[in-house]
Amino acid sequence: MSRKAPSEGAEPPAAALQQFGEVAEAISATTKKLEKTALLGSYFKGLNDADLARAARYFAGHQFAQSDSRTTNVGGSIISEALSEATGFSRNDLAPRYVRLGDAGETAYEVVKEAKHGIQVPAMTLAETESLITRLSETRGTRNKTALLATVLHQASPLEAKYLVKLLAGDLRIGLKEGLVEDAVARCFARPLPDVAHANMLLGDIGEAAVRARKSDLRNIEMRLFHPIKFMLATPAVDLSDIARTMPAEFLVEDKFDGIRAQAHVKDTRVSIYSRTMDEITHRFPELIEPLRTLPTDVVIDGEIVPAQGERILPFSELQKRLGRKTIGKDLMSEVPVIMVAYDLLYAAGRVLINESLEERRAILERLVPNQGTVRLSIAKEFTEVAPLDDEFTKARGRGNEGLMIKSPASLYKPGRRGREWLKLKRAIATLDVVVTAVEVGHGKRRHLLSDYTFAVRGSEQSEELLNIGKAYSGLTDVELAELTEWFKAHTLQEFRHGRVRLVEPKIVIEVTFDRVQESKRHKSGYALRFPRILRVRTDKNPEDVDTLETVRRLVASNNTPSTASG
Ligand code: AMP
Repeated sequence: MSRKAPSEGAEPPAAALQQFGEVAEAISATTKKLEKTALLGSYFKGLNDADLARAARYFAGHQFAQSDSRTTNVGGSIISEALSEATGFSRNDLAPRYVRLGDAGETAYEVVKEAKHGIQVPAMTLAETESLITRLSETRGTRNKTALLATVLHQASPLEAKYLVKLLAGDLRIGLKEGLVEDAVARCFARPLPDVAHANMLLGDIGEAAVRARKSDLRNIEMRLFHPIKFMLATPAVDLSDIARTMPAEFLVEDKFDGIRAQAHVKDTRVSIYSRTMDEITHRFPELIEPLRTLPTDVVIDGEIVPAQGERILPFSELQKRLGRKTIGKDLMSEVPVIMVAYDLLYAAGRVLINESLEERRAILERLVPNQGTVRLSIAKEFTEVAPLDDEFTKARGRGNEGLMIKSPASLYKPGRRGREWLKLKRAIATLDVVVTAVEVGHGKRRHLLSDYTFAVRGSEQSEELLNIGKAYSGLTDVELAELTEWFKAHTLQEFRHGRVRLVEPKIVIEVTFDRVQESKRHKSGYALRFPRILRVRTDKNPEDVDTLETVRRLVASNNTPSTASG
């Protein structure tokens, strides 16, 4: 092998977490992308394969490979408690620091540094970091997890503690997205970026992609079935002329189904269904298994699970009845039957199809999936003008669906991308997906529940900043509220007024509707929603998926006209 090793012939030594932290600090200190990738690249080059895989994953903000469904389930509350046990600072001492520093990792750095428990010599390796993460994922119960983490934090140096905590919190917040890690890998091992990105997508592991990049082994990667791939996303269309401007002369129009996005993997007799958050949800939909298993060939299908009675699509609220349940009995299955509507095909009969055009993918899909039944094809109609979309929108609503999806027939399947090759035309009222940042106890019947939510949009597609935009009294069911109240208590960042008001980890995504958006000094976003109402919890969405300030601005600019054909 011609690879340059740091010292002639010898395998590089085990990488230290301390050094990972130092590189991360340097990356955080510059805003220039080229500098960030250069720093990362020169670090990567000096690591052995196992550490390269770990470092690439950790820099991308993942605790495990993305295709690995394990999680540590360590939230802010375990982190605070463990930090408190490890350093002797009370949780009340920690809270104001968290607010001042705005980051759990920074807080950890500060308190470990100030703690008087002897010398903390950096000693942890990336391999030990990995085994800690694995043990945390295997340890049951908050107390046990807290004790394990506290022991490690007690011995950690301030910088080690900082990056351990950031990693466990799920985000390093050093201005590095997975795309930049791919870029760094491509540059430092002199491989084309698209090859690295493609390998990462197929493997579902930036770590292994990095090692293969070094070995020049990026081609001929087989699609790994039963490892979910990120979903391609759509951009909201402002109005019909926006569609006319964006789409080619001929474009495809489908109903926008209001259900759960799902990716079904089928090989031989095995079937798995994954959600948009990459969780396996097969057990929740037993009636889909047989129809998927009996498809004529191995496939990866992208589609939507919706409640339906025969041909009739039922409202999303019906599906909600099934979502909270652990076991799906016969009664529930007959009360709320579901179907899967297939609208895309990522793999069939040994062939990866994501780099084929939508037209080609659909042509194959149409041969494999029937027009009716429990797993059925979504109908795609070809349009050459936008004027008839008004009528089509109304018809889609009449069929029980949310609106329309408009797709460019030439579009490739771009995992994880929100492009303009897929546009969505939504419901007759404007809605925003937002993330809950603070909660408050309600009144009357709800005085024991955390039922009033303050929520935020993101500063921009690229930014991690969250900007509050409104506050709403929850329109959720009592069961949902009770469950969320527990969640918010376990994921509180800071309490005020004896726990009646809490800043919480920004993880819960909700869909809100409102009468209009207006400029306002009250919230950090500079806007406020008038009469917001919560429509539903979007368990299928992550905080990265919430709407941005840009969408809000566009709503204001279009005079608050919602993005529908009819509106
Ligand atoms: P939204 O959830 O509002 O961001 O809209 C995007 C979502 O629409 C996707 O993630 C899918 O779950 C859903 N969707 C419904 N019908 C379709 C369709 N025919 N093609 C693609 N996505 C669809």
